[in-house]
Amino acid sequence: MGEGLVFALSMVLGTYFIYKSNVRELNLSRRQSNFLLSVSHELKSPLTSINLSLETLKKRTLPQEKIIELADVALKESKRLENLISDILVAAKLDHPYTPKKQWLDLISIIHNLINGYTAQYPSVAIRLHTDVEEALLFASKQDMQSIFTNLIENAIKYSHEEPIHISINDQKENWLIEVADLGPGIPNSEKSRVFQKFYRLGREETRTSKGTGLGLYIVKKIVESHNGSVRINDNNPKGTIFTLLLPKVAGNEGVIG
Ligand code: ATP
Ligand code: MG
Repeated sequence: MGEGLVFALSMVLGTYFIYKSNVRELNLSRRQSNFLLSVSHELKSPLTSINLSLETLKKRTLPQEKIIELADVALKESKRLENLISDILVAAKLDHPYTPKKQWLDLISIIHNLINGYTAQYPSVAIRLHTDVEEALLFASKQDMQSIFTNLIENAIKYSHEEPIHISINDQKENWLIEVADLGPGIPNSEKSRVFQKFYRLGREETRTSKGTGLGLYIVKKIVESHNGSVRINDNNPKGTIFTLLLPKVAGNEGVIG
């Protein structure tokens, strides 16, 4: 009787763990196939435009404005390819134990520079920075901080369709509290932790219209964690998403400012 019970219990436990690991595998393979679908599309479509622009430039004698227009298309698309390849490489690097190369830097100037770049690129989107401090010093990797805020601002622009974006920086003693808030469609509670998984995108690849590979927030989370910080998602009011980051000013015993 006792033996039977132990046997039955191990069968139930065994089945449960096999089921759990199958579900995990299935989710991963679903995400990877979504990734392949989106990456092949993301790689192919800029290459097609670049080829087309170069072929038109080569074949015909064109007015100067047309030449500039075609060259701009090719440049924009090659920048897109460069970003995609860089995301894939950064994500692969972050899969392994990673120690950021840190220096003292000012978060306000990093975010300001990014906002200036995006405002020039998307003049119809208002991006505002709110803070009470003049400098937000932090011992961190410059490239990593740029990567975090590039991804969050790009998402806010991409998913909120020209609504204003508000970024705030608050002093919380040992940490900086940074919020990136948009008025987009928001992220349902059931998806809030999933969006940080590698390759994860909301909805199905076939029906999705926005460009992307689902690597951005994976990169953000990994970088934030490598700086001993945290990131979470809250709902904005009346609608949209707030990405809330807590970044230690000095993570560990890296020394004194200056
Ligand atoms: P990319 O790798 O180019 O960044 P992506 O934007 O799809 O691609 P993530 O940045 O990782 O990938 O975001 C994952 C998913 O989370 C997105 O596909 C989108 O569905 C959702 N998401 C991210 N940011 C927002 C936002 N601000 N508002 C609404 N949904 C968002
Ligand atoms: Mg993104």
